[in-house]
Formats: sequence, C-alpha cells, structure tokens
Amino acid sequence: MHPRMPKPRLNVLIVGAGLGGLSAAIAIRLAGHEVLVLEQASTLSEVGAGIQIPPNSSRFLISWGLREAMDRVSVLPEIIRLRSYRDGNVLNEQPLVPLTEEVYGGPYWHCHRADFHRVLVEKCQALGVRILINSMVTNIDFEAPSVTLSTGGTIGADLIVGSDGLKSKCREQLLGHSDPPRLTGDLAYRILVKAEEMRKHKDLEEFVNKPAINTWMGPNAHAVSYLLKDQGYYNMVLICPDNMPGGVNVMSTDSSEVLEFFKSWDPRLQKMIGLVSSVSKWRLQNSTEMASWTHPSGKFALLGDACHATLPYLAQGAAIAVEDGGVLGGLLAKLEDRSQLPALLRTYEGLRKNRTTKIVVGSTGMRDILHMEDGEKQKRRDAVLLADDIKPGFPNKWRDPTFRNFLFAYDGAREVEIAWERFRERSGSGAAGVFRARL
Ligand SMILES: Cc1cc2nc3c(=O)[nH]c(=O)nc-3n(C[C@H](O)[C@H](O)[C@H](O)COP(=O)(O)OP(=O)(O)OC[C@H]3O[C@@H](n4cnc5c(N)ncnc54)[C@H](O)[C@@H]3O)c2cc1C
Repeated sequence: MHPRMPKPRLNVLIVGAGLGGLSAAIAIRLAGHEVLVLEQASTLSEVGAGIQIPPNSSRFLISWGLREAMDRVSVLPEIIRLRSYRDGNVLNEQPLVPLTEEVYGGPYWHCHRADFHRVLVEKCQALGVRILINSMVTNIDFEAPSVTLSTGGTIGADLIVGSDGLKSKCREQLLGHSDPPRLTGDLAYRILVKAEEMRKHKDLEEFVNKPAINTWMGPNAHAVSYLLKDQGYYNMVLICPDNMPGGVNVMSTDSSEVLEFFKSWDPRLQKMIGLVSSVSKWRLQNSTEMASWTHPSGKFALLGDACHATLPYLAQGAAIAVEDGGVLGGLLAKLEDRSQLPALLRTYEGLRKNRTTKIVVGSTGMRDILHMEDGEKQKRRDAVLLADDIKPGFPNKWRDPTFRNFLFAYDGAREVEIAWERFRERSGSGAAGVFRARL
C-alpha cells in the first residue's frame, strides 16, 4: 500500500449480539471499521448462569482493555479438581494460580454470563458500535451483501458476519438447506445455590470459601461447580442423559428430579442440590462440521456457535467464539485494499477451522472420560489420576501439558501476524499483491 493511501473503512454488519458477536464487534471496531450489530431479542442479555473464561479467551479480552471490568465481575479459581462421584474424593488437581498468568499470560476467570455480556455491551457502546435490538434477520443476500429483517427492511454492508448461535439462520442460508442443531444425547441442569445457604453447612464450606472448579465424574454423568462473584451464588451444571420431550430445548424442573438421578452421588453434592427448589434444564446440542464458513462472494463469514457449536465439556465454546472475533478483527486491521477482503476471509477460516474442530471433537471425547461406568476401565482411569502419572492421553486434560498448551497457549494475535508476514514475504512486493495473488 502506498504510505499516503488511507486504510479502507468497511461497514461491517454482525448478526447476533451473543458473546461471539459482541467480541467480533469490539475487535472489528478497534481495527478501524464501522460496526452495526443486529440482535433479534428485545433486550440485550445472556441467559444461563456461570461461565468459565480460560486464558486463551481472557488474553483477547485484556488486549481490548477489559482487564479491570472483567476482574470486577469475576472470581479467580485457584485449582481445577476432578472428584469421584460416590464420595467426592479428589482424584486429580490442576492449579490455575499463578500458572495461567505466568505461563499463558492471562487469568482463568469465572463469572455470571450476564456480567460478561454486559462488559462486552458497554465496551461496544464506548467504542461507538451500534447495536439494534428487535432486529431479526430472516434472509441474506450474500452477493450484495445485505440482510432482510423480519420487519421487511433491508440493510446493506461491505461485510456480513453471521454470529447467530446454534440455531443459526445464517448457517442454513450459507449451506442452502435446513440444518437444525443435532442432539448429543445429554442435557444440562443449571442451578444457582445461595452461597450463604451453603455456609450454614460445615461440610459445604470448602466449596464457598476457596474458589475452585470442582468436577464430579460418574456413570453417564458429571457435575461442575464454582463460586460466582461477591460470594453470592454457587453455580452448578449437572450433565446427564437427555430425557427432554421432543421439540423442547429449555424448560424448568424442580430439584427432586435432579436428586433422583444423582441419588448415589457424593452426599455433599446432593445437599447442595437440595438447597434450591427451581432448576433449569437445557438440551445439549451441537452441529456437524461445515465444509466452509465463508461465502464465495468474499463478503460473508460465520463465527462462534453458528459454525462450531460444541458440548461444553472443555468449557471452551464461548472462548473459541471470542478467539474467532479476535482473529477476524486482527485480520481486518491489516486490510489495505477492499479487494483483499475475500482472501482475508479465507485466511480467517484457514486460521480458525482446524483448531475449533479439534476442540469440538475433544469436547465430545471428554464425555468418555467423565462419564465412565463403574468397572475396570474406570478403576484404571482413577488409578492413573491418583498417581498423577502424566503421559499423553492423561485423563485430566487441564493437567496434560500438551493438551493444556493447545487450549490455553493459543495466541490468535500472533497467528494473524504470522499469516500476514507469510504473504508479505512470498509476494516480495507488498502484502496487498500477495493477498490477491495467493489466497
Ligand atoms: C451448559 C453450558 C455451559 C457452558 N459453559 C461454557 C463455559 O464455561 N465456557 C465457555 O467458553 N463456553 C461455555 N458454553 C458455551 C457457550 O455458552 C457458547 O459457545 C457461546 O455462548 C456461543 O456464543 P455465540 O455468540 O456464538 O452464540 P449465542 O450466545 O447463541 O448468541 C447468538 C445471538 O444471536 C441472536 N440471534 C439468533 N438468530 C438471530 C437472527 N436471525 N437475527 C438476529 N439475531 C439473532 C440470539 O438472540 C443471540 O443473542 C457453555 C454452554 C452450555 C450449554
């Protein structure tokens, strides 16, 4: 690019104001482009309860200036503990403090989803990202490109990013056929227990006094729990086989149903469940891998759950949506000429697809480790965990340095720099020519 040529300023339209869409909005705005986010809901918020934010995600958030805001709403778990389901005995542990800051350059946070979402919304607002609620996208013209809203209006842009989640309209339109979410065979009970209620029970104190991520592993099920900010609530996610009626994906139930399934589990876990009356129940669904996330027009790309919905067993779904946004924003910051956009979107897909597929597959694979039936295999798993005998394939994936590095050390910003430099070197005549010629 000629030094005096101004960088192109794109109008970018993002479909969906979830954690992925808002992350992309921040990164793309920081890259110098105009951003409009269209959200179908009538309010901006996140449903569900707690969320874990591993360092591969927190590093991006910090690079966007969100360290202080996230610290304010988050808890720093000191350790991940894997426990046996019967008695809660600890089988293996992975310390997180100071490891994740020292080795991976970012904290491992957990917080309430609504707080995380609000931090992202406020950052968008501070940066001048426009967010329109009550704006459901019903159709996309990939060539124009433009979207049609349920109200009938059409909005055009230079680039459209589809981040409309698991039941993505954008994904179906890109595929050209219906592609509903796939059943995984599991469901999640989501529970918030008042920490003050837990403190009344001596045997539950350890869970609320020392922040940690506790995971109980048992036959066909597992339970994950951690404290939320201000010691107000204790977050529990209990996964077991899907028994939800057809066509229903979220419903309320009561704790007696949960207690019935987990009746042979750690009495402390049962006590915690017994401290609440209402429980929400979510069918866990994902999707099959797509051949491509981008449209040949070079003006459209998917992001987040819309293209790589995953089981939450590595707690990475939102984290990789944040990574997508960071990488896409990083590449768009390099844009020197509008003609580079198609190549740049293919680069985005090239940088992101293998990693996200490996995490989706790895998350499904975790079910075999977490949900083992009692028997010889389970005894071997527990013996390996207790011996802390860390070799490739070690069952605690957060303790296995190879796998942990794969999850946590991912540096999307560096990936962008490497990709850009590679094209620059190969061209010998500036990156703009390379992007046109080689991608
Ligand atoms: C039980 C459970 C626990 C989890 N725990 C973790 C965890 O600890 N850590 C982690 O990283 N991940 C976790 N995840 C995964 C994480 O929640 C998701 O991966 C993440 O929220 C996906 O974000 P997204 O923005 O891609 O999609 P979504 O959050 O689904 O957002 C999509 C947005 O698009 C909007 N939208 C949809 N259609 C349209 C349309 N046609 N027009 C306009 N707007 C539209 C929706 O209203 C929504 O606001 C968990 C998931 C579950 C189910």
